[in-house]
Amino acid sequence: MPDAGAAGAAPRLRVFFALWPDAPTASCLHCEARQLQGACGGRLMRPDTIHLTLAFLGDTPVSRLPILAEAAAQVHAPPCTLVLDRCGSWHGNRVLWLGPSSPPEPLGLLAGQLGSALRERGVALERRPFAPHVTIVRNALHAPPAQQVAAITWDVSAFVLVASERGPDGARYRELGHWPLGEDAAR
Ligand code: ATP
Ligand code: MG
Repeated sequence: MPDAGAAGAAPRLRVFFALWPDAPTASCLHCEARQLQGACGGRLMRPDTIHLTLAFLGDTPVSRLPILAEAAAQVHAPPCTLVLDRCGSWHGNRVLWLGPSSPPEPLGLLAGQLGSALRERGVALERRPFAPHVTIVRNALHAPPAQQVAAITWDVSAFVLVASERGPDGARYRELGHWPLGEDAAR
């Protein structure tokens, strides 16, 4: 008798678009995170998992991935430099993040264009305003009030589509697509 359960189900992935730092930038972010974790406790994000989410789609049929790639190719935002100079917390102070006190204009443009291109293709996204941040610590024991920290500069030249998969030590991320930024970027 054929199994009508998981074997027959269309494959799905938990996906999101993000900025991914290069290794030196991730290492700087991780160092800063370690200092904050020293004061606040909690679980540090591994350097290879540090990212800034642009658009979270969640559970998505694999057959929809080409549509997401089509939306990504509609983005024509220039590269930019992010200055992460602020830390804060949310979710009842359990999540600590680093973010820019002055997000560069191209970042808003990128998130806006991507969101519009996805919605035009029927992708449901949350309506909350985009709040650029990099999660650095989870399950913090306590959190400082939002404050300025030593600035970390992150040159952003591309964005990625990523699948989030469960690993033994938390989420693991797998890159599914990569798009360079720039008006004339090769597509
Ligand atoms: P875990 O859930 O295991 O702690 P995670 O939050 O890093 O790991 P996901 O839940 O798959 O992994 O989320 C991937 C990224 O998308 C994270 O940066 C997360 O903060 C962000 N994210 C998750 N849910 C939403 C949402 N509803 N809206 C916006 N961003 C989200
Ligand atoms: Mg999560």
